[in-house]
Amino acid sequence: MISQTVREFANKHIRPKMMEWDESQEFPVEVFKKLGELGLMGVLVPAEYGGAGLTYTEYVTAIVEISRVCGSIGLSMAAHNSLCTGHILQFGTEAQKKKYLPKLATAEWIGAWGLTEAGTGSDSMRMRCVAKKDGNDWIINGAKNWITHGKSGDVAVVLARTGELLDSKGITSFIVERGTPGFKAGKKENKLGMRASETTEMIFEDCRVPDENVMGKPGEGFKQAMKVLDGGRISIASLALGIAKGALDASVKYSKEREQFGQPISNFQGISFKLADMATEIEAAELLTFEAADLKNRGQSVTKVSAMAKYFASEVCVRASTEAVQIFGGYGYTKDFPVEKFFRDSKLCTIGEGTSEIQKMVIAREVLKN
Ligand SMILES: Cc1cc2nc3c(=O)[nH]c(=O)nc-3n(C[C@H](O)[C@H](O)[C@H](O)COP(=O)(O)OP(=O)(O)OC[C@H]3O[C@@H](n4cnc5c(N)ncnc54)[C@H](O)[C@@H]3O)c2cc1C
Repeated sequence: MISQTVREFANKHIRPKMMEWDESQEFPVEVFKKLGELGLMGVLVPAEYGGAGLTYTEYVTAIVEISRVCGSIGLSMAAHNSLCTGHILQFGTEAQKKKYLPKLATAEWIGAWGLTEAGTGSDSMRMRCVAKKDGNDWIINGAKNWITHGKSGDVAVVLARTGELLDSKGITSFIVERGTPGFKAGKKENKLGMRASETTEMIFEDCRVPDENVMGKPGEGFKQAMKVLDGGRISIASLALGIAKGALDASVKYSKEREQFGQPISNFQGISFKLADMATEIEAAELLTFEAADLKNRGQSVTKVSAMAKYFASEVCVRASTEAVQIFGGYGYTKDFPVEKFFRDSKLCTIGEGTSEIQKMVIAREVLKN
């Protein structure tokens, strides 16, 4: 039922305008407000905080169906739900949850989450953004880069250094509202793909936030962030799965319509074997992604399986959307058909929330534990 509802929503509200948003790099806030009305901006948030109170299974299903049409909207939905909202849901105090979750779950507010900096992506432990205690407040100085909704976000979860460099207990998470003096958006990135998902710098200049905006205890931020990413990676696997499915849908349809040498190109083994490979890899990626969702639903550790799902699904997504362009031939190289967008959007999946290389490091660490 969720699959059907979200598919109808995406076809009605996203498909007609997605290329326009892509061209102009417009972040369509109104679509997120509508997603909020459907409960898709607070899928995992319990009903007592205004959310849909569903499980990871429904969450994965929804992101897949959105991303099957437009990866940008899928990415923004994933970042909002898993990162900002997910961090507050898992580690916020009761007062913080009551204050922020109802607004985030309905998309009255859009959420951002800032871990990455210009000099520290994979190696986030070396972050330079600092927060210093001043009476009952904290003063944040520094910048965060590549932040989804860094400008349009109404509230951001920000990870900042409060201890020594390279001390995993030297990082703290803060909730910072837009409009707080000293907090502003910086450069907006001009991206290859995911162009309707806003990515900007967030700048902090003597930004004062009260003690009550700290999540958990000072020094717990890094550990929290790694847990948030464990769940977040399931949403990036879902995003990748959706894009790959969209690329396969388009390829199957086109290969049956396009004729060369007096017959549909799907009759050629060279094309049908591409479809077979795409379908098989997508099926395997789907099983891994739903396994990760199932483990999460049952409260078990997902570190290994979510990294596997994210790594595998994102690489499948790049391969499937690359083959889709090939199946479309010259038409696949134009903006008149959807596959060039799947191709451009797909690459983010092997980079965001930990690159494929970082996923392999996580998986290897888990495998070597035994
Ligand atoms: C569209 C978009 C949206 C994003 N949204 C957010 C967001 O909302 N919040 C946020 O905090 N961040 C966000 N990011 C940042 C993203 O998580 C980082 O880009 C990512 O973690 C990689 O970091 P980096 O770009 O600095 O690459 P680097 O860490 O500099 O990596 C460069 C290359 O080196 C490799 N590498 C690095 N270390 C190792 C190693 N030890 N072994 C082997 N290879 C290694 C990497 O795999 C990669 O291939 C976003 C990025 C993009 C592109």
